[in-house]
Amino acid sequence: MFRSSIYKTPEQLRLMVEPGLATAASLAAARAKIVAGASTLDVDAVAEAAIIARGGASNFKLVPGYRHTICASVNDEVVHGIPSTRVLLPGDIVSIDSGAILGGWNGDSAITVVIPGGDAHETPRREELSRVTEGSLWAGIARLARAKHLNEVGDAIQTYIENEGDALGQNYGILTEYIGHGIGRSMHEEPPVFNYRVRQKGPDVKPGLVVAIEPMVVMHSPETYVKDDEWTVATSDGGAASHWEHTVAVHAGGVWVLTAEDGGAAGLAPFGVTPTPIA
Ligand code: MG
Ligand code: MG
Repeated sequence: MFRSSIYKTPEQLRLMVEPGLATAASLAAARAKIVAGASTLDVDAVAEAAIIARGGASNFKLVPGYRHTICASVNDEVVHGIPSTRVLLPGDIVSIDSGAILGGWNGDSAITVVIPGGDAHETPRREELSRVTEGSLWAGIARLARAKHLNEVGDAIQTYIENEGDALGQNYGILTEYIGHGIGRSMHEEPPVFNYRVRQKGPDVKPGLVVAIEPMVVMHSPETYVKDDEWTVATSDGGAASHWEHTVAVHAGGVWVLTAEDGGAAGLAPFGVTPTPIA
């Protein structure tokens, strides 16, 4: 069903370490720049500088028609927001998606940051949305470490969101129109990675599989539309959105989160999973 070439060799996995770290560096730089008064173009500039400093290049700029290093999606925007002179405000929820190509191999990762301040009722709700979305990503990665088939990842993500959302009396929505993906020499490769429960088992989870897992979670309805700029995906009801993503390798020794500086150790610890460096 899936070509055997979706599985990378150990040597190819090693080549994906540096682009993963360059991607992580760009998001660390972006995170530090996400403050009230900065523009999303300011965030874009520091993200690109961090990738170049590590000897890489932005892979988003290789997407036809796209001129920026990051996507910056603010408040009702979920993914694919274009950096602009828009000035960030207290209470804004900001999702930054970034990727580096280095030595011909790709990384892809996203974070969400809520700027302190703003509405005393809404800001904590946005922080909680981001916390649950990030937690669901780690739950999915933890499941990948033990999974037989790739669809177990989406099941773990959705279960986590349902449990955490219910605990708060929240009914979060999970986007189903946009999904994760394999990654390697191209940023987007087979197989598709569903960030929610699907019946099809998907490919075997075994050494050589490298996937970008990326739950997109919104405050209410998962219905979206594309704004007039023809890129930005936003919620139809205007509810806030969060997007977290990591590039994760399955190898002979276990899993390693290529776009986390610690390989995912901190994020996976609550799930009893210890990542193993790629030998
Ligand atoms: Mg991405
Ligand atoms: Mg992606």
